[in-house]
Amino acid sequence: MEDNKITEDSANKPKNFIREIIDEDMKTNKWQGKVHTRFPPEPNGYLHIGHAKSICLNYGIAKDYKGKFNLRFDDTNPSKEEQEYVDSIIEDVKWLGSDFENRIFFASDYFEQMHYWAIELIKKGAAYVDDASADEIRENRGTLTEPGKESPCRNRSVEQNLDLFEKMKNGVFKNGEKVLRAKIDMASPNFNLRDPIMYRILHAEHHRQGNKWCIYPTYDWAHGLEDSLEKITHSICTLEFENHRPLYDWFLDELNIHHPQQIEFARLNLNYTVMSKRKLLLLVQEKYVDGWDDPRMPTISAFRRRGFTPESIRNFAEIVGVAKRDAMTDIALLEFAIREDLNHCAQRVMAVLRPLKIIITNYPDSVEELDAVNNPEDLSMGTRKIPFSRELFIEQTDFMELPPKGYHRLVPGGEVRLRYAYIIKCEEIIKNDNGEVIELHCTYDPETKSGTGSSNKKVKGTVHWVSASHAVNAEVRLYDRLFTVEAPDSDKEKDFLEFINPNSLEILTGTLIEPSLKNAKPGDRFQFERHGYFCVDSKFTKNEKLVFNRTVTLKDSWGKKN
Ligand code: ATP
Ligand code: MG
Repeated sequence: MEDNKITEDSANKPKNFIREIIDEDMKTNKWQGKVHTRFPPEPNGYLHIGHAKSICLNYGIAKDYKGKFNLRFDDTNPSKEEQEYVDSIIEDVKWLGSDFENRIFFASDYFEQMHYWAIELIKKGAAYVDDASADEIRENRGTLTEPGKESPCRNRSVEQNLDLFEKMKNGVFKNGEKVLRAKIDMASPNFNLRDPIMYRILHAEHHRQGNKWCIYPTYDWAHGLEDSLEKITHSICTLEFENHRPLYDWFLDELNIHHPQQIEFARLNLNYTVMSKRKLLLLVQEKYVDGWDDPRMPTISAFRRRGFTPESIRNFAEIVGVAKRDAMTDIALLEFAIREDLNHCAQRVMAVLRPLKIIITNYPDSVEELDAVNNPEDLSMGTRKIPFSRELFIEQTDFMELPPKGYHRLVPGGEVRLRYAYIIKCEEIIKNDNGEVIELHCTYDPETKSGTGSSNKKVKGTVHWVSASHAVNAEVRLYDRLFTVEAPDSDKEKDFLEFINPNSLEILTGTLIEPSLKNAKPGDRFQFERHGYFCVDSKFTKNEKLVFNRTVTLKDSWGKKN
């Protein structure tokens, strides 16, 4: 038999209060050395970054303690659930690397068993059918200082209850006409124990069960049963369920079945965004964004489309940690996590977002192949060739006719180094009829070729460029925060939609990128030198048209420092 000791992996992880509980359980052999967690989403929307935290937490624990991790759809509410959501959730959990080893469960598959257990509680006198409407039940719930009012139906006989519950199940009653309630304590200081509802009547089609059922279990009744059936050991959920734990425990104790430990932790809140699925759905339906995976959304699919790696999201979840109290996490932390990761793995390339033409008048009418480093952080990524020629494009912002003090890029009569190439000097400015600069005529110094060391001439600025006849056209999408304030949904007076940032998306259609990217595929990630990290968009990239999403900006740009 295996020793119930704390595994090496779990011992090496930073401790949090949940891991401390599990360590203790291991010592006391509470679960015979087993750890079994689950992630139980309701398939009524796409998963967001808060869910990612929960997935990483549950899976991370299962993995480190050599336990198991289930993916379970909590599909007990027929009206808002759809197959599209089920599919997207499976894809997202897999993408995050959380291995549920084919253990995908559906709460709706347990309806039969739940119904059986409900009958058991009725037989014990621990549940009854109430004729009260939802409103009446709410009105009679009592207050913090006053107990609730017992329903006149509370003392129905077991036989009556069994009969009525059977009729509820068989569709004899209309929606809302009857409910099944647990018979606990109308005077409990915990509202959740004041005879909570177990079943309500809903004549609605279920995405998996069709019209088989017209009674549906409530979350509180169903959730513990689902955990119990799957032999979960640690049922980890967010803080809002803390007050529901006595009820979770009550149902399992009454039925005397496998009884997991519910543990609550603080949900992740991220600034400048909203995380409620209802609000995210509204953003999609009202077309504020181009779908659940619009790169400005806080969904996992949006982060994937935007170019985030699963590693970066896992690291973020790790850095945020697990707390007992709600707090707001700065989105800058997530940006830090992705920069860290891409800095190591993204190939550097040159892309000119807003091009300005340059003619090197003393350069011959030929093409030279120059060596460029793919990633200075990882020289094993090698080098590539980039074509240099007489006509180039540089960034419009890398030239100023009347520069302020401290501007180290190209100015009239000034010099600048072209990355991986030569030092050039601006000799002449060509303007259009409106007085706008449209072209620069420059000369180059052949002695200053990068990497040859033939000249020790130094200039303060280095700028990126592309060769005019070789460059590939692309569309680039720059994203800003979707909301203008840190907590868009906490304003009591205003709707969160009023805080939408009207400039959250900027589309640049004239971007020119180096030819090595010609065959880039959706999902490929690059660093555009001095601009940030970019990823080929999977939705709008088609045949000849390359579209890039900016994943994140660079913190510092070497162009300014050099
Ligand atoms: P809604 O937005 O409709 O309130 P939800 O986000 O709670 O729903 P569920 O599908 O019930 O959606 O969530 C699945 C699991 O993810 C639950 O265990 C829940 O506790 C957890 N979870 C949800 N939001 C967060 C969050 N922001 N941080 C951490 N965990 C979360
Ligand atoms: Mg929920």
